Amino acid sequence: MDIKKKDIRALTKEALREFFVQQGDKAFRGNQVYEWLWQKAAHSFDDMTNVSKETRQMLETHFVINHVEVDTMQRSNDGTIKNAVRLHDNLIVESVLIPTKTRTTACVSSQVGCSLDCRFCATARLKRMRNLNPDEIYDQVVAIDNESRHYHNRPLSNIVFMGMGEPLMNYNNVIKAIEKITSPEGLGMSPKRIVVSTSGVPKMIKKMADDDVKFKLAVSLHSAIDEVRTSIMPFNATFPLADLRDALIYWYEKTKNRITYEYVVWKGINDKRKDVDALVTFCKFAPSKVNLIEYNPIDDGEFQQANSQAIDMYQAVLEENNITVTIRRSRGKDIDAACGQLANKS
Ligand code: SAH
Repeated sequence: MDIKKKDIRALTKEALREFFVQQGDKAFRGNQVYEWLWQKAAHSFDDMTNVSKETRQMLETHFVINHVEVDTMQRSNDGTIKNAVRLHDNLIVESVLIPTKTRTTACVSSQVGCSLDCRFCATARLKRMRNLNPDEIYDQVVAIDNESRHYHNRPLSNIVFMGMGEPLMNYNNVIKAIEKITSPEGLGMSPKRIVVSTSGVPKMIKKMADDDVKFKLAVSLHSAIDEVRTSIMPFNATFPLADLRDALIYWYEKTKNRITYEYVVWKGINDKRKDVDALVTFCKFAPSKVNLIEYNPIDDGEFQQANSQAIDMYQAVLEENNITVTIRRSRGKDIDAACGQLANKS
């Protein structure tokens, strides 16, 4: 890559229009190129067939398109697809397509590696290398949308930010990517079909509420008892549950959007009645529902999925307290594509 050339997709539409005016061309040319860059997700200037050859060559001398490439694609026997996506600097992130009868969901990454240290998550073992740019997040979605059309004959319907990284620690870029994904000039998807999942950064949850975002919020809770949560998610020592609670109350008051708590029940860690009771109390702070996720083993067996009696107890107690609970089975385990398994193994 020629480092002197600028990534053209870092330009706003206005800046691109302005660039063409400076080149003695019409501002309108900027709109055309912008459409190619985003809506049509062109990988090269030569793809821009309604732009003259001279203009394409001129663009080539000023800019690059740092498009990501799907390096390897694996398909699970349940239809799940995992992409290892190569970035312009050769780093790799992973994204996943999860098909069900009614929807196709893209699970995308927001960072290369992760700076958090959740002890049950494979991504946490890769240190955080860098944040993804908005276009790198956008490109993952485009790649999955293409695969969805190709293998499942339908466009992508939902997006979850549950791949590698902590989205709220790359907030600005995630927001810019979502703006493009939801814009009619991008993919035109509804923000209601997008979930941003966070391990819970209170300050950023409040900022999201202030920014009046329209997507949904999921919080990886896993325990509503500080001592337990800190033992499995050490950053909880810095962002304790009381601060998370206050931020979530603030979120609900501002957005009126209920919160989803993601929760894995592990043997000997959070499978007792006191754990459920703490969760019930936490769920009452703001309207919410609980997603009980199956644990995807990542190694030596330090963590083990709780037995079915414990899961049944969670379900029963939550329901007695009128809290909606769903039990989510894992997809794509055979190709290490399930939650917490993304670790660039291949
Ligand atoms: N950093 C964000 C998003 C990435 S993790 C977050 O923490 O929410 C996506 C989800 O997978 C989170 O709910 C996380 O707690 C869960 N997860 C991580 N490792 C897992 C594992 N081994 N099995 C099941 N779920 C896991």
